[in-house]
Amino acid sequence: MNLILMGLPGAGKGTQAEKIVEKYQIPHISTGDMFRSAIKEGTDLGKKAKEFMDQGELVPDEVTIGIVRERLSKDDCVKGFLLDGFPRTIAQADALENLLADMDRKLDYVLHVNVPKEQLIDRLTGRRICPTCGATYHVEYNPPKQEGLCDKDGASLIQREDDQPETVKKRLEVNIEQAQPLIDFYQDKGYLATIDGAQDINDVFENIDEKLKDLA
Ligand SMILES: [Zn+2]
Repeated sequence: MNLILMGLPGAGKGTQAEKIVEKYQIPHISTGDMFRSAIKEGTDLGKKAKEFMDQGELVPDEVTIGIVRERLSKDDCVKGFLLDGFPRTIAQADALENLLADMDRKLDYVLHVNVPKEQLIDRLTGRRICPTCGATYHVEYNPPKQEGLCDKDGASLIQREDDQPETVKKRLEVNIEQAQPLIDFYQDKGYLATIDGAQDINDVFENIDEKLKDLA
């Protein structure tokens, strides 16, 4: 099963990725991991990518797609893969189509874990962190026993800069702007499976599983 996983920050994509990997034994391939291992292995493409990254520049698509090709050619991808964070642009999505056709493979689903923006704002702005031990809480979904205080050490919990409402809203808007053309692209191609991510985590996975069980 050849899959792409999409979802905005806070949509619970990471949790669903873990569940998919566990049940179907396909590798979870995130862009960051892919770059890191290509660089660590010292492949030619890894070296090229590193040059750009060291200069604080974006890695060009032809390098990125080459790294994707190397990764998808590995033995652990024989049964399939779960791509996460790639493609990010239509140009990359086109390149991926060509790459897969070249490898005699095709996408099965683009799983889009969809959560309304307002709910994502609630989820993301409710996060609280303990500055002493790093424990994380959520005012609604995972509150500490005593409001505002860490269960482990009693320190006053803080809200990270990244989790402030204005920052969260901006981050979501940037992500939506980036994701929408891809969602439309995959909708047109017939790969898109929109999953209601506003439900309980296990129900979200059940919906995903409904789609995947026929592919296994
Ligand atoms: Zn603590």
